[in-house]
Amino acid sequence: MSFINIIVTSASYDIIRYDECIVYLITVYTFILALPIINEDWNMPWVNKKKCVSCKKCVKRCPVDAIDMVKGKALITDDKCIYCGKCVKVCPVKAILKDREFVELRIRDNLKALKGPLSRNKGKNARKRMIKSRIRQLRKQQKVIRGTIRELKQIT
Ligand code: SF4
Ligand code: SF4
Repeated sequence: MSFINIIVTSASYDIIRYDECIVYLITVYTFILALPIINEDWNMPWVNKKKCVSCKKCVKRCPVDAIDMVKGKALITDDKCIYCGKCVKVCPVKAILKDREFVELRIRDNLKALKGPLSRNKGKNARKRMIKSRIRQLRKQQKVIRGTIRELKQIT
């Protein structure tokens, strides 16, 4: 059984509609595409500004003063952070996410944005074309990100 077959089989238990099944596949595909990039800084924390309630607990807890309050929201300075995870644990509203959680959140946001146009498009072939086009766009973006990272490594 191929890898894609395994994904389709596992998806078919709770996803019946064709477009939702495709969305599920894109989620897995996008995550696989992102893996080589996100593995490098797997523990880098991110602040979800919408959730931050400005309590400053993370600021006080950070051992290297990597967090400041900017316009009432916590902001992490990447090059000071030592990835200890203390801010993630202390935040009372779970506004600080680990890399893995942040990437999954962004994937879900991307898919939510794609689901609307997909559901409005009734034709199966039109939906397939829309999905293929989005995958092509993602591949282009991936090439740009990889190329930029490669060039940045040359600079040092
Ligand atoms: S992970 Fe540790 S070092 Fe990085 S911002 Fe959070 S508390 Fe500070
Ligand atoms: S601990 Fe959480 S809610 Fe409090 S300032 Fe930091 S990110 Fe915002």
